[in-house]
Amino acid sequence: MTSSHLSAEEFRRQGRAAVDWVADYLERLESFPVQSQVAPGDVRARLPSSPPERGEPFATVLADLEEVILPGITHWQAPGFFGYFPANSSGPSIMGELVSAGLGVQGMSWSTSPACTELETHVLDWMVELLGLPGRFLSSGAGGGVIQDSASSATLCALLAARERAGGAGGVAGGPLVAYASVEAHSSVAKAVRIAGLEHLRLIEVDDSFALRPEALDAAMVADRRAGRRPFFVCATVGTTGSTALDPLAPIGEICQRHGAWLHVDGAMAGVAALDPSLRWIHDGLELADSYCTNPHKWMLVNFDCDCFWVADRTDLVAALSVLPEYLRNPASDAGEVIDYRDWQVPLGRRFRALKLWFVIRHYGASGLRAHVAGHVALAQELAGWVGADPRFELAAPVPLNLVCFRHVGGDEVDRALLSALNATGRFFLTHTELDGRHTIRLCIGSARTERRHVEACWALVQELAPPA
Ligand code: PLP
Repeated sequence: MTSSHLSAEEFRRQGRAAVDWVADYLERLESFPVQSQVAPGDVRARLPSSPPERGEPFATVLADLEEVILPGITHWQAPGFFGYFPANSSGPSIMGELVSAGLGVQGMSWSTSPACTELETHVLDWMVELLGLPGRFLSSGAGGGVIQDSASSATLCALLAARERAGGAGGVAGGPLVAYASVEAHSSVAKAVRIAGLEHLRLIEVDDSFALRPEALDAAMVADRRAGRRPFFVCATVGTTGSTALDPLAPIGEICQRHGAWLHVDGAMAGVAALDPSLRWIHDGLELADSYCTNPHKWMLVNFDCDCFWVADRTDLVAALSVLPEYLRNPASDAGEVIDYRDWQVPLGRRFRALKLWFVIRHYGASGLRAHVAGHVALAQELAGWVGADPRFELAAPVPLNLVCFRHVGGDEVDRALLSALNATGRFFLTHTELDGRHTIRLCIGSARTERRHVEACWALVQELAPPA
């Protein structure tokens, strides 16, 4: 019986074909409609109902990738992709993924692949320096960083650590626990509260710039204490999903300290703006936070998944998530000499994600990464100026970074129709939200390939399609 496994030579040949395919794809990006045009079920209808009995040549798989899969792809790497928040990628990151898959290690404990843990700890310390984050997040002290799959997981882990600090899941003194975030916080906060089986989440009102109002937070916490409940966790956001609003961390941090609550800061997309020192003010007050996360997989050229999550003191996180069965025991862990990242996350198994982050940082260097975010912020500021200069449009929110929220003054129906008409051209893809109860178009600049000409062309098309005021 002959083996179906690829020989080294076959793997080289097919691997080159796969890399060529990706390189060609990236070169062709502008030739596709940005948003996939298929209807529900179209992709499955073109797939055989049963798996093949005998293996097939790789060339036919690649052909189907082109014919069946590509039409069902929305091109997140296209320069005209301005929807949601970016999920950008880069050559070095793709190669990091490839090498990680090639090594195929499970990095759950230090002993299962020491380099997987040590590179991660090291690069997360580098990220503290690159973003100018508080030194308490460095691994050299009580804190440290870990790569989670997503910001949602980071928020859940922060919440579980906060509960641990408040007395654990079993017996919590001071009444039922209450968590807080603004009405503009990401839905992952509500999800984390639900997963943790907690009952109380207060969504706090925001000010005119959609940032959490600290005095309203304080009042809610005082009211909960008076009612016999225990405020234990606050999630502040640096760059809300709706409009990149920036919650004021310093006053929020001071309130958290007064009430003995854990402060988690969610900087999922916007946090990496701090690569540029002139934008580091977005983190003013972060030294008061117990935990913080930002996603290189959104705007820092590392493809999904790569969320960097730091705690100022790892004790409660590890206490909340550590379960040690006999089959995972090993001398290094028993001696307490090493970090075992399985105790810093929900799943046991973990991929070697630090490789792609390391490849990206080494390829671009701090200066290249800085230029990447600064360029997008400058383009967004320019676009905000163009929006403000057209009487048919208004800015729906401040534009501190790379997201421009705008709307047609003609009202929701006109705005909705404009967005559909724009996306139907296939040249660009934008998404929407609701701000102040009104339909709002969001244009987020974060794709690695977006240049000024793409933003200009998109705005020209918006102006062409927009009816008079
Ligand atoms: N937090 C904020 C502010 C976000 O904007 C997002 C996603 O856009 C998330 C959390 C969730 O991110 P993830 O997909 O990494 O869980």
